[in-house]
Amino acid sequence: MRLARPLENLIDQLQKLPSIGPKTAQRLALYILKAPVEQAGQLARAIIEVQERVFPCSICGNLTDVEPCTICSNPGRAVSSLCIVEEASDIISIERTGYNGKYFVLNRSFRLMEDSDLTDMNLQPLIKTLKNGEVQEVILALNPNIDGEVMSRYLASIVSQHDVKVTRLAHGLPIGGDIEFADEITLRRALEGRKEL
Ligand SMILES: [Zn+2]
Repeated sequence: MRLARPLENLIDQLQKLPSIGPKTAQRLALYILKAPVEQAGQLARAIIEVQERVFPCSICGNLTDVEPCTICSNPGRAVSSLCIVEEASDIISIERTGYNGKYFVLNRSFRLMEDSDLTDMNLQPLIKTLKNGEVQEVILALNPNIDGEVMSRYLASIVSQHDVKVTRLAHGLPIGGDIEFADEITLRRALEGRKEL
């Protein structure tokens, strides 16, 4: 039996999302079909709005709908420390530790087996921030796996050219894990016990 074309189309689109297999896509599509029309409309608008209105902050790369983002424009945050993370979602985890400095988001993860070149990363906004001379310490908070390690070494070599102390999160984070999913206590300890690189 062939499904109605719009339904088939919705299932196809949902299946493109991460962690959504054919069965889940079908279940979600049927749920959306039966949902009140306002709810389906809100979902459709939310998807369009996130694409149209959310962009990386030009200073730190955090995902924002205002320029600069609320962290960069907050005068209460310490400018002397800059925490480098892979993804904007990592900021949420670091924020839970009580960290009150600024951030730089790479918005890209590095895969040693797939990528060979780190030099194509846009680090100009980071270098511009370092040249201001206000940052005294850069904390590398990349994922504790081999890819994060390679990226950390590369970033440390760039940051250290600007006469800035470079530290990294202490071990205690599960190797091969993901900062985003680290629990608050482990992450706070890792932040407090950071080591100079
Ligand atoms: Zn920002």
